[in-house]
Amino acid sequence: MSDLILFWHRRDLRISDNVGLAAARQQSQKVVGVFCLDPLILERDDVAPARVAYMIGSLQELRDRYTQAGSQLIILQDQPVRAVPALAKALSAKAVFCNRDVEPYGRERDRTVSEALKQVGIPLQTFWDQLLHSPKEIVTGAGQPYTVYTPFWRNWKTKAKMAPVETLQGAEGLSPSEQKAAHKAGSIDLPTAKDLGFVWENELLLAPGEQAAQERLEEFCEGVAIAEYKEQRNFPAVSGTSHLSAALKFGTIGVRTVWAAADAASKRSRSDETASNIQTWQQELAWREFYQHAMYAFPSLAEGAFREPFKDFPWGDNDAHFQAWCDGMTGYPIVDAAMRQMNQLGWMHNRCRMIVASFLTKDLLVDLRRGEKYFMQRLYDGDLSANNGGWQWSASSGMDPKPLRIFNPASQAKKFDPEAEYIREWLPELRSVDTGFLVTGEIPAEERDRCNYPHPIVDHKKQQSLFKQIYQQQKQQSS
Ligand SMILES: Cc1cc2nc3c(=O)[nH]c(=O)nc-3n(C[C@H](O)[C@H](O)[C@H](O)COP(=O)(O)OP(=O)(O)OC[C@H]3O[C@@H](n4cnc5c(N)ncnc54)[C@H](O)[C@@H]3O)c2cc1C
Repeated sequence: MSDLILFWHRRDLRISDNVGLAAARQQSQKVVGVFCLDPLILERDDVAPARVAYMIGSLQELRDRYTQAGSQLIILQDQPVRAVPALAKALSAKAVFCNRDVEPYGRERDRTVSEALKQVGIPLQTFWDQLLHSPKEIVTGAGQPYTVYTPFWRNWKTKAKMAPVETLQGAEGLSPSEQKAAHKAGSIDLPTAKDLGFVWENELLLAPGEQAAQERLEEFCEGVAIAEYKEQRNFPAVSGTSHLSAALKFGTIGVRTVWAAADAASKRSRSDETASNIQTWQQELAWREFYQHAMYAFPSLAEGAFREPFKDFPWGDNDAHFQAWCDGMTGYPIVDAAMRQMNQLGWMHNRCRMIVASFLTKDLLVDLRRGEKYFMQRLYDGDLSANNGGWQWSASSGMDPKPLRIFNPASQAKKFDPEAEYIREWLPELRSVDTGFLVTGEIPAEERDRCNYPHPIVDHKKQQSLFKQIYQQQKQQSS
């Protein structure tokens, strides 16, 4: 047995502030990274090309970082249960280290890999890295997971946060003969996204890799954006949010580093107002953790509605309506602008995610799972826990027993895109239409025809009462 520890990267594509990797380096100088391109993930039908492009770009940088740190990143392409133990055995590794995941697939994968490694006498050691607090740390007085955000936040914010851990450096990599053995055990050159069958030609909102994520964090926390977050974050035409979601999803930045930057901004702030804006952003980080804890405690969330009235909800599932929603052709400008933003950018503003999710479920009466999947097929930050949490919240089908939330597209646009800047940006065919019409969505029929823009596919008021009626019936049946 050598001194080698293999560090298996999954959604932690960085060498800085990585809990499991820092622990590996503490135990041995010889730490080699491994990433496994898993066909059970890449061959699913909900993989967004933009997400693969971000992941591959981040792996390219990670490979360079390993070289700079004195070691290597090995790429495998097979099911981890076969590939990881085979590599570890071929290299006589003393252990495999990795960071834990909350998702049902990831947890089952890690269990089977751990079993397979045990068969060859190699331990799998796991760490919590992607969360500031693990699910065990934040529980109710009765020791149960929280199902409502506000008490979760109250508990979460009082807990001390861990500081960033050390960046990998001064490591030792594989010898030439070990590299040969790694090749025999399946090590390959890193393919491009195209090689894997995914084509994404548009620019990503945030460039892949650790450096871009770090720079973005500094720009956000050291500039005015975080200080004005509470007001600006709701306007989709304004760049008022951090754009760090893909970095947090793939772990090109450590969450402790993110927290430390926000905390430093808070300490620098000169007014209660600024500190309160910063805290609003910190609350978003807590939402991220809340949904991850929820997925860990209630894996059935991934399968569909959580609350009874929605479990056998008679969704209409009109395919033509669903397609119009996907294409940004519903005739509701704020909804269509948002869908086209996502189709082109691989990202959508949070306010608009809520608007379109409400519209699909409450106006079009389409099953939230179809919308959730379409988001995963498009978003470069697509993340099971956050996406599911957002959809369940918007559909009112999740853990939170709050009354029905139904977003009125016109009121939302009036409040958050009052000059129709966002609508005009993403619906260029409507650029010449009056702002009032765009915001209320009450565009005269002849204007719609002139601009080649669809007539509304449903009537919001009618659909709203239809939805409420069905919901009441469902509620009575399930009580
Ligand atoms: C229907 C729906 C689907 C969503 N799908 C996803 C998804 O697949 N992946 C994803 O990362 N976020 C998702 N969100 C949450 C949110 O929209 C995005 O995290 C946010 O828009 C990303 O932009 P940002 O990085 O500029 O966010 P900021 O406003 O700067 O927030 C900072 C970070 O906090 C986290 N965060 C913010 N809001 C939320 C939230 N409501 N829930 C969980 N985490 C949050 C993200 O990691 C984000 O990067 C979804 C929300 C809804 C309503």
